[in-house]
Amino acid sequence: MNRNFPNFGHFILILIMFVAFSVPFGFLQIMVPHSWQAFFMLLGYVIPMLLTIWATRRAFDKKATYNFKPAYWYMLPLVIVTAYAFLVVGEFTVFLLPEPTGKLKKLFDMLNQTMRVIFEHKVIGFLMVAIAAPILEETLFRGIILKALLKKYKPWQAILYSAVAFGVFHLNPWQFLYATVLGLLLGYMYWRTRSLFYPVLIHFLLNGTAFLMGQYTDLEPNEGFSDYWTQHNMLQYYILVVISIGIIVMSYFWFEKIFRKAPQTLYLATQNPHKIIEIQKILPENIHLKSLQDLGFKGKLRETGKTLQANAIQKMRQISVPYDVDALADDTGLEVEALNGAPGVYSARYAGDRATYEENVAKLLEQMKGISNRKAKFKTVMALSKGHKEYLIEGEIHGTVTHEPRGTNGFGYDSVFIPDGYNQTFAELTDEEKNKISHRAVALQKMKKLF
Ligand code: IMP
Repeated sequence: MNRNFPNFGHFILILIMFVAFSVPFGFLQIMVPHSWQAFFMLLGYVIPMLLTIWATRRAFDKKATYNFKPAYWYMLPLVIVTAYAFLVVGEFTVFLLPEPTGKLKKLFDMLNQTMRVIFEHKVIGFLMVAIAAPILEETLFRGIILKALLKKYKPWQAILYSAVAFGVFHLNPWQFLYATVLGLLLGYMYWRTRSLFYPVLIHFLLNGTAFLMGQYTDLEPNEGFSDYWTQHNMLQYYILVVISIGIIVMSYFWFEKIFRKAPQTLYLATQNPHKIIEIQKILPENIHLKSLQDLGFKGKLRETGKTLQANAIQKMRQISVPYDVDALADDTGLEVEALNGAPGVYSARYAGDRATYEENVAKLLEQMKGISNRKAKFKTVMALSKGHKEYLIEGEIHGTVTHEPRGTNGFGYDSVFIPDGYNQTFAELTDEEKNKISHRAVALQKMKKLF
């Protein structure tokens, strides 16, 4: 994965690629007899699109996988209503454009002329407009471009950029506006469901409707719903636009409510099953923690960083990237002030690679012999990949190191760490008491806000 992808330059490159791949087909179309033109138009769209998708994937994201799985079936009626509301509002933005005159009028007529070829042919037209375009365009704009943008930007920015890119791709001012507005809905649905199912379905419905209207009304291919209505009743049309905007706003809040409570799976990149139980207690109920075994991950997570942050990110990416799932990893260390932060990132293997907890504790006490400054802190760094965005969260608890081990609960350095404000070591506190104040609890509380 190219982490820089996609920037403005990449997008222009994709656009040029598509246009370049289309040119030979343009010539073919002119040369073949009229009855073959629609077929060559279909080829002239599908093949360049496939090549563009293939080349983009190869150049920027070789491991890209596309998820078309249906999800949130029960939202279907609401999605359909919202899609048509977007259609009305999208077309309204086009309606606000001044009527094309002069050169623009020529371009407009030319577009209609080209599209008429495809609209004239029922089967090929339907295949191209309602089937091929939704699948191919959603794969490119949502499945590759938006997916990558979501890794770089805030969701609303990523959705907006992908929508504008989708608009520009249509290469004319009328479809630009319409496609950009629609791109917002397509992008939102992709972001929330992580599946191309709804984007393709919505795209299919709206393109299919446009195609049928072209077939069964006397509208020009480039004219739409609004043209039909404005020819009949302006007042009704304005009312329809206002109602559509209302539907969009309402369904947005509705969708948000559904998506926020929807079950989500989070894979914990750890080989320690105790962590799953501890973390599950703190996270909201709709977040289902799963283990590496659930994912079929075998082997050992690599952990070769020099800082807690580097290790947490390294572990998280070993799961989130190849499996394309939300993942959480943590790395913890005890940092002793008088030892310049040691054992820190090496806490687990302070006394050697296969050291036991007792051996590590013994070494720590040995190193601190005669040192009066006993200040230390436990620090946890959590790396979370959620919806392709990465977060780093830290939690700390300050305290002091005892002179000898006390208590039998817990693990690791619990028996020699007294949190500030307490007289007992972590190992003398109950699990509940420790889990309320621990470094991991602090980090998890912060993380909870992200859900
Ligand atoms: P890990 O990154 O969570 O695997 O933690 C690394 C090491 O830090 C462990 O092997 C323990 O020795 C120590 N450690 C982590 N969390 C705790 C804790 O809550 N109490 C005591 N020791 C801990």
